[in-house]
Amino acid sequence: MVAQNESNTAPSERTNQKRAASSLQSDLGQTTHFTTADSEGNLVSWTSTIEQFFGTGIMVPDHGFMLNNELTDFDAKPGGPNEVEPTKRPLSSTSPTIVFKDGAPFMTVGSPGGKTIITTVAQIILNVAEFGMSPAEAIAEPRLYDDVDPEVIWEPGLPSEARQQLQALGHEFADEPMPLGNAQAIFAQDGAYLGVADGRRDGSVVGL
Ligand code: GLU
Repeated sequence: MVAQNESNTAPSERTNQKRAASSLQSDLGQTTHFTTADSEGNLVSWTSTIEQFFGTGIMVPDHGFMLNNELTDFDAKPGGPNEVEPTKRPLSSTSPTIVFKDGAPFMTVGSPGGKTIITTVAQIILNVAEFGMSPAEAIAEPRLYDDVDPEVIWEPGLPSEARQQLQALGHEFADEPMPLGNAQAIFAQDGAYLGVADGRRDGSVVGL
């Protein structure tokens, strides 16, 4: 799994680096994923972000858009692969995805959620492709997130047996669950489209 704002420190050093309680919560609200499809079979999967609320807070005069503050996506600690350097872009976790099956688009999916986006998108695809869930079930299913921080982030609804089994394997879990991401997806099924909006935050499906 990808660690976006962490340095490449040795595992023994990581155990003392507890994730700041607010670092994932602060991802709420400033990134949007939408996905759309037309009658000719074209699909778009689009994630747009200016990082935090109102980005830098600076509006570009006469152009109507705000400048982002994506510099905070760099690792503030020098020495890692995501350290700040001139002319470099920070690692982005945005993962607007189109999945193909037998050469044709099968599903689109994406989400906000900072560095948790990657695992959210991967888990939804696995839920459909590996575990045979319906699109709505795949998005509603409780998610997990882990990186170099010792604590696994988990969602309400994760069965306690699953948590206990993972704890028995040595995984540490955060004390409290928290919601992860807000996925939006389209599934191409039998010549029609099925849109699914996540219930975790705002989201909706519209057919025209
Ligand atoms: N700026 C983040 C990234 O590109 C996304 C932020 C968010 O989803 O809240 O990975």
